[in-house]
Amino acid sequence: MAEKSGDSLLYSRPMLNSTYDLHTHSTASDGTLTPAELVRRAAATGVGVLALTDHDETAGLEAAAEAARQARIGFVPGIELSVTWSHQTVHIVGLQIQPETPVLQAGIGKLREFRNWRGEEIARRLEKKGIGGAYQGALGFAGGGILSRTHFAHFLVEQGHARDVRQVFKRFLVQGKPGYVPGQWASLEDALSWIHAAGGLAVIAHPARYRISATRLRQLLGEFRELGGVALEVVSGSHSRDEIMQMSTLVRQLGFAASAGSDYHGPENPYLDLGRLPELPAGCRPLWQHEAWQDVQETADRRAI
Ligand SMILES: [Zn+2]
Ligand SMILES: [Zn+2]
Repeated sequence: MAEKSGDSLLYSRPMLNSTYDLHTHSTASDGTLTPAELVRRAAATGVGVLALTDHDETAGLEAAAEAARQARIGFVPGIELSVTWSHQTVHIVGLQIQPETPVLQAGIGKLREFRNWRGEEIARRLEKKGIGGAYQGALGFAGGGILSRTHFAHFLVEQGHARDVRQVFKRFLVQGKPGYVPGQWASLEDALSWIHAAGGLAVIAHPARYRISATRLRQLLGEFRELGGVALEVVSGSHSRDEIMQMSTLVRQLGFAASAGSDYHGPENPYLDLGRLPELPAGCRPLWQHEAWQDVQETADRRAI
């Protein structure tokens, strides 16, 4: 049973055998449940410790923390930062962050500017292909949260240009397609420095999802480690059983901790629900048993007193 820790966003000291889900999204980014709805659903499906990790956004954390106190589950304030590494978009999850940290907020601000520019540019390019109103349409789906390509996808599906979100990406939004906009997110170095400035731990999100060779992946992991990264998501809602085993071998070989997160975006995604993540394979060291995790948790507890 968790206990309340003052006004801290970190409502926890959860039991080690809780079910952890350290990667989820709310309406503050491209998820479809509000932070409070997400937390309640997580609690109802048996998640014991939940991290909210919206894309480049911390606006949902306070409401999620409050809902977690009420639902009596552990809560970890987090974020998922967009990084461009070697022409590839890579996602870095920051966990146990202090969201109000100025360095982090300034970094997110820059990403937000890029995101808005990209949104306008996607709309301009779609307009040229005869699809008007995409910017306003996508904003409507964003509902005041950050504007993502998923929101454009929902608009295009609604307008009948594709069957579902997956098809929109294939036809319109990936490299070589009319709505693709190249650009640079944060550097790996910047993303980790923002997370560390905010007192958090850095985790590579869904490492099996990147279209890079095994050699390049190891290079990414090497740089990540040199910059102070501690863990990889071994268990992810987007990893197959084989990929989980491959990533578990990697973390054991390279000495990383292992994290687990569903990457839940809402109930519309029927193949992935909360509370159904497989366990970490034997031999991986769970991030929540890592000394760095204990350290940041103690710091957060001290702040709360
Ligand atoms: Zn991601
Ligand atoms: Zn995600």
